[in-house]
Amino acid sequence: MAGICPHCEKMVSNVNVELVDSIEPLGKSWKSALFSCPHCRKVLNVSFDATSHTEYIIDQVIKNIKGS
Ligand SMILES: [Zn+2]
Repeated sequence: MAGICPHCEKMVSNVNVELVDSIEPLGKSWKSALFSCPHCRKVLNVSFDATSHTEYIIDQVIKNIKGS
């Protein structure tokens, strides 16, 4: 199933995805997935990247286990 890009109005049957940093005002950051139109490259959505966050949590747990 395809949709129409709200910017260029071309049919979108796939999207470009890249990982970007999301940064809070106080400096904390995490990885997010940025989805863009393959025709005009304008941003369609930015979403929390669960895979990167899971890897971050696992790293933190391993550091805590090694530190105790
Ligand atoms: Zn577009």
